[in-house]
Amino acid sequence: MNKKTDNIHQDIEKVLIDSETINKKIKELGEKISCDYKGKNPVLIAILKGSVILLSDLLKAIDINCSIDFIEVSSYGENTESSGVVKLVMDLRESIENRHVLLIEDIVDTGLTMEYLRENLLTRHPASFKICSLLSKPDRRRVSIDLDYCGFEIPDDFVVGYGLDYNEKYRNLDYIGTLKKRIYKKNG
Ligand code: 5GP
Repeated sequence: MNKKTDNIHQDIEKVLIDSETINKKIKELGEKISCDYKGKNPVLIAILKGSVILLSDLLKAIDINCSIDFIEVSSYGENTESSGVVKLVMDLRESIENRHVLLIEDIVDTGLTMEYLRENLLTRHPASFKICSLLSKPDRRRVSIDLDYCGFEIPDDFVVGYGLDYNEKYRNLDYIGTLKKRIYKKNG
């Protein structure tokens, strides 16, 4: 790898949401979740891999007892368009029966992933089920999904950063941005 060109920021076309704005929003979400779930010991379920940064920052903004778990699904592969077929790649470690479940997602696009997970997790009889997503692209929705906590609505652009990747890269940006067109061309 060419060390001179190995800088993720130079591949960014436009910053959509800067890190200060994200941090402020996470604080607000954390306060609201702490208030809504007081005394309920919720389990926050992060959808791998995109939600790990959101989970870790959100956890620090929550000041009530809670636990965490992880689930992994795939629908994108190496493309910027969802295949529409959602597959469970890794399941939860713990039972969620009678637990207050808060599903943590980086972005809701078509809504197919959320619909799949909602149907799947509800069969396990949680005490309650809510969704928290940092981003939402309402114009792309193919199924109706109620977002109980939503950070930002964004236009129909493919975005990277703050956990979101393109071909496994750019997750480590501390802001949300779009990529320069040449990056997609390079990848075919
Ligand atoms: P959905 O099933 O709602 O179409 O897509 C959900 C998943 O697709 C997200 O968890 C995320 O992994 C991926 N995704 C959707 N839109 C984007 C985007 O703009 N950028 C990136 N990097 N991933 C996206």
